[in-house]
Amino acid sequence: MKKTTNAIAPMRIYCDLFGHNYEMTKKVTKHVKEYTCKCCKRQLTTNGNGKLTELTPKFQEINSILEEIYTRRMIRLKNKTLTSSIY
Ligand SMILES: [Zn+2]
Repeated sequence: MKKTTNAIAPMRIYCDLFGHNYEMTKKVTKHVKEYTCKCCKRQLTTNGNGKLTELTPKFQEINSILEEIYTRRMIRLKNKTLTSSIY
């Protein structure tokens, strides 16, 4: 049985050579998303300008607030369409 626990260092070299392999891990709003590199677990997020930036604790805080506002608005919209029964 082989274990691959110390595979982090070669993976980081891989990222340096070929670039990160980002995967969307969280949808904050329609435009803001969080990404994690499958190899080295580096995290990125979309900032106010629509560009990707490092997911710092500051951005995590902003995103959680954004997410709360967004989901609340979505729930309200859903309720509205339900009561007016257009569909
Ligand atoms: Zn990476």
